[in-house]
Amino acid sequence: MKQFKILEKKDFPQFIKRLSKKHKVVAPVSRGNKSYAFTQVDSSDQIAMKYIPTILPPKKYFMPQRETLAQYNKSKKTFQTVLEFEELVIFGVHTCDLAGIQCLNIVFSDTPKDINYIARKNRILIIGLECNDYCDEYASCKVMDSHHPNGGYDLFFTELKESFIVHVNTLEGEGIIELTGLFKEATSNHLKEREGVIAAKKKIFKDEVDVHYKDLKPMFDKSAGSKVWEDLEKRCLSCGNCTNVCPTCYCFDIIDEINLDLDTGYRIRQWDSCQNEDFAKVAGGESFREERGQRQRHRYMRKFSYPVERYARHFCTGCGRCSRTCMAKINLKETINALAKENR
Ligand code: SF4
Ligand code: SF4
Repeated sequence: MKQFKILEKKDFPQFIKRLSKKHKVVAPVSRGNKSYAFTQVDSSDQIAMKYIPTILPPKKYFMPQRETLAQYNKSKKTFQTVLEFEELVIFGVHTCDLAGIQCLNIVFSDTPKDINYIARKNRILIIGLECNDYCDEYASCKVMDSHHPNGGYDLFFTELKESFIVHVNTLEGEGIIELTGLFKEATSNHLKEREGVIAAKKKIFKDEVDVHYKDLKPMFDKSAGSKVWEDLEKRCLSCGNCTNVCPTCYCFDIIDEINLDLDTGYRIRQWDSCQNEDFAKVAGGESFREERGQRQRHRYMRKFSYPVERYARHFCTGCGRCSRTCMAKINLKETINALAKENR
């Protein structure tokens, strides 16, 4: 397997055409008003090659908002587990979202393994796409070290002047190269041009907050009594949008739904949010996090402290979706900088 291939830009429409004949392909598509969504495509004209993070991350394919886990029949005394999955190619995944998928992979492969998630993940091929510049002012991917590729893809496209240089990372990626039959070997000139893109990125991407990556966890660990949470307490609407759009938030609820025959039904898993009032309620009506400020603090600790202890990585990719979507204009970079200011 030669690691780098070249796809001429003029051949890109054919590439999508041939790929979508064999696979269901989803890619970022403009929804107008500077918003984008991963949507099924069969033509390159539909794809937004330059886009800010989609409304929902590719998480929606790995962990659907609602899925059936089992079906049951009381009179027959049966309970059957259900696996829901489909073969899929996701084209155009930015490096921040590759990092988000890696976080989900880690969590759902932890014990006990989540077979529903793993069954889906094993059927999804990922084609990454490099950002040569910032998406917008909400991004903080440099400080989270997710502005460049760190694996987690089958193929990875970097745009050069006349072509895309494509890193082939897996045998499945190699299969796409063979299937479409449009790629040629990268020459030393192509590799040099790629190095130029990487060097240019180093000048563009700078730490977006006033704290070094390594100091984020100690700062959050000291933040329990901070005034910053009091401020968020007053502003947060508890809508849960920030967690829904987050590529690394994975909390869910499981509910049993019975049909009108009162005999058969389904066990459903659906997204939940630590920002919902009921999320931390236990039997007897007590809640561990009754106040909105406490719930916001918890959200941030679940990004910058707890996963560092358990998985040795931050669970924020710096995609900026939480800040972009928040109606109360609660901004992740501002929260981090406000905490940093208190610590000075
Ligand atoms: S931080 Fe913003 S998006 Fe998140 S729950 Fe509060 S108001 Fe909603
Ligand atoms: S916390 Fe915000 S910036 Fe970080 S990964 Fe989640 S949505 Fe993106």
